[in-house]
Amino acid sequence: MASPVAIAAQAGKLLRERALRPRLLAVRSQAGNLTPRRWLNLQEYQSKKLMSEHGVRVQRFFVANTAKEALEAAKRLNAKEIVLKAQILAGGRGKGIFNSGLKGGVHLTKDPKVVGQLAQQMIGYNLATKQTPKEGVKVNKVMVAEALDISRETYLAILMDRSHNGPVIVGSPQGGVDIEEVAASSPELIFKEQIDIFEGIKDSQAQRMAENLGFLGSLKNQAADQIKKLYHLFLKIDATQVEVNPFGETPEGQVVCFDAKINFDDNAEFRQKDIFAMDDKSENEPIENEAARYDLKYIGLDGNIACFVNGAGLAMATCDIIFLNGGKPANFLDLGGGVKEAQVYQAFKLLTSDPKVEAILVNIFGGIVNCAIIANGITRACRELELKVPLVVRLEGTNVQEAQNILRNSGLPITSAVDLEDAAKKAVASVAKK
Ligand code: GDP
Ligand code: MN
Repeated sequence: MASPVAIAAQAGKLLRERALRPRLLAVRSQAGNLTPRRWLNLQEYQSKKLMSEHGVRVQRFFVANTAKEALEAAKRLNAKEIVLKAQILAGGRGKGIFNSGLKGGVHLTKDPKVVGQLAQQMIGYNLATKQTPKEGVKVNKVMVAEALDISRETYLAILMDRSHNGPVIVGSPQGGVDIEEVAASSPELIFKEQIDIFEGIKDSQAQRMAENLGFLGSLKNQAADQIKKLYHLFLKIDATQVEVNPFGETPEGQVVCFDAKINFDDNAEFRQKDIFAMDDKSENEPIENEAARYDLKYIGLDGNIACFVNGAGLAMATCDIIFLNGGKPANFLDLGGGVKEAQVYQAFKLLTSDPKVEAILVNIFGGIVNCAIIANGITRACRELELKVPLVVRLEGTNVQEAQNILRNSGLPITSAVDLEDAAKKAVASVAKK
């Protein structure tokens, strides 16, 4: 059995892993069609709508696309206090910072006018948090909700856990803050309930979790009821994770889900059409769209070796062999068939525009693609873009002899590789040297 620490860490880390895995899986599952594709992601307001439809208690809210809409929403809510929340897919918004200068992606105020002013400094600006890239993520929408007083913040997550072959509920009376910190410093404050997916959640399990979370008296039954409803939602919508942090209590004696992050099982798309139709693609990287303009297919990853390949099969093989040699791909750019020299140039431009990239690995098998065209494109790009990172090239197939002559006679510092293994080793070594 995994330790509670491991499970809790997993609850928090899933989000970040998800940034890598789905893309790789997308490459694997779409051989021959390297369309950039991410797992379904919902914003908080969308997740909360699903929750409220399933009897889970969330605050009243509206969604706004402009500061004016936010102001109107705040007036319409007619609440004692309002909480304004930037909608991005990453967590840690409360402690985030906008490139407008505004601090905090979550704000409480009693004045609707202030909601308008704050929204003005959120919408259209980037919000950077612990879980976003350094430059942050652009905010397109804000959630305007009725604020409630919180007397206690706990943590609750339901996740599909591989090591348990089923759902596990993870909770901590110490919520609101970074759960990984709690797991590291006070593992005894992380509780879990393993659910038998055939038997479903037992009353005793929901009650025990509610008690472990520190809910007392009538609040205990209420919390247990909310936990059961969250579990039913988890199953019904084919989620792999439902995370509520904080799962809080109010001085008036209500248990409320103040935040929500849901991840979904991509294989369930066929029976979750309504949910998948809500997919928020607004956070796709601009580079993906730019690549599409030149008929190139781009998939961004987290490493530092850019991969220029043709075909999804070769992309996967390249990825595996880079990992095997201790490196990490920064991205894939798939050239496809019928390539023109200008596309090769554009491809290099895109790859080098990514500051993560510390080396480029070209791995092209020329079947339909003529290697000489690739070689010409590469040498032109190297000269015009004044390439500053090491370039390792492995070409094979049609016209490869001529291609190698072009590269060799170019006088450019291009490292040739005899095969894929050799190419991966040289690319990894060139990065390690830095
Ligand atoms: P996150 O930082 O992205 O996880 O965003 P959250 O939705 O969890 O909000 C951050 C923090 O703001 C929470 O941990 C709460 O302490 C606080 N917060 C959010 N909503 C409310 C609210 O309605 N009332 C009060 N008093 N605090 C809130
Ligand atoms: Mn939160």
